[in-house]
Amino acid sequence: MLKDKVAVVTGASRGIGKSISLALARQGAKIVAVDITLKGMDELLAEIKALGSEGVAVEGNVTVTADTEKMIDEAVRAFGRVDILVNNAGITRDGLLIRMKDEDWDAVLTVNLKGAFLCTRAASKVMTKQRFGRIINIASVVGQMGNAGQANYCASKAGLMGLTRSNARELAKRNITVNAVAPGFIISDMTEALPEKVRQDMAAQIPLERFGTADDIANAVVFLATDASGYITGQVLAVNGGMYM
Ligand code: NAP
Repeated sequence: MLKDKVAVVTGASRGIGKSISLALARQGAKIVAVDITLKGMDELLAEIKALGSEGVAVEGNVTVTADTEKMIDEAVRAFGRVDILVNNAGITRDGLLIRMKDEDWDAVLTVNLKGAFLCTRAASKVMTKQRFGRIINIASVVGQMGNAGQANYCASKAGLMGLTRSNARELAKRNITVNAVAPGFIISDMTEALPEKVRQDMAAQIPLERFGTADDIANAVVFLATDASGYITGQVLAVNGGMYM
């Protein structure tokens, strides 16, 4: 489905970003895997190869303009184009509002929101010339419904949804679609470490009665990257088991 397409995925070395990279590779896309360190990248590239595709790893910080330009340059150098950008890199620095430090606010807004802006700006220069692109931003259910103790994170993800809509309007005439995926509670290192009772209480809030998996998110990203979603832009696809609708 994505043969000859080139995808840049940020925060690709582990977690949801890794699953997205592998799911895109499974559909034939060539992967430019970006992360702040190259830890885990050899394994990812080997898995991409085993799926019959190709990839390159790029060390880059999404908050540094020069790095975002470098990752796009590397993609063009390696594979000649950039069709898909997945803005997945994200961090949390949780804390109650009255105790939240300025630096925790700034760090989360800078990685989750400014990082997506910088990567999109760099990629859209190439996509505009190609007259084709698929940009997919990984938001969060808490950007839609809020969450105590996550003012910075919720604001960053709500901002990312606004950025999605603005960029969708601006880039549509160049045949570039921009959408977001908003995951709910996803099985991850963080949720695996919670006590069983807490996990059960969290799952009880979800109509489908289970946490999501990284593959649930990756499948939604694949859909938004393929021609099947060519008439969809500026949307937020909720992948949350029904916990927010
Ligand atoms: P994760 O396991 O922490 O992976 C995030 C990756 O991004 C890490 O490899 C991290 O590198 C990298 N990264 C962090 N800052 C970066 C930067 N400035 N530049 C480049 N790479 C950077 O996170 P995840 O759970 O897979 O989440 C992926 C995305 O889904 C995030 O945007 C998150 O907000 C969103 N999300 C997750 C959940 C969930 O339940 N897990 C739910 C809703 C939304 P280091 O580890 O080396 O710092």
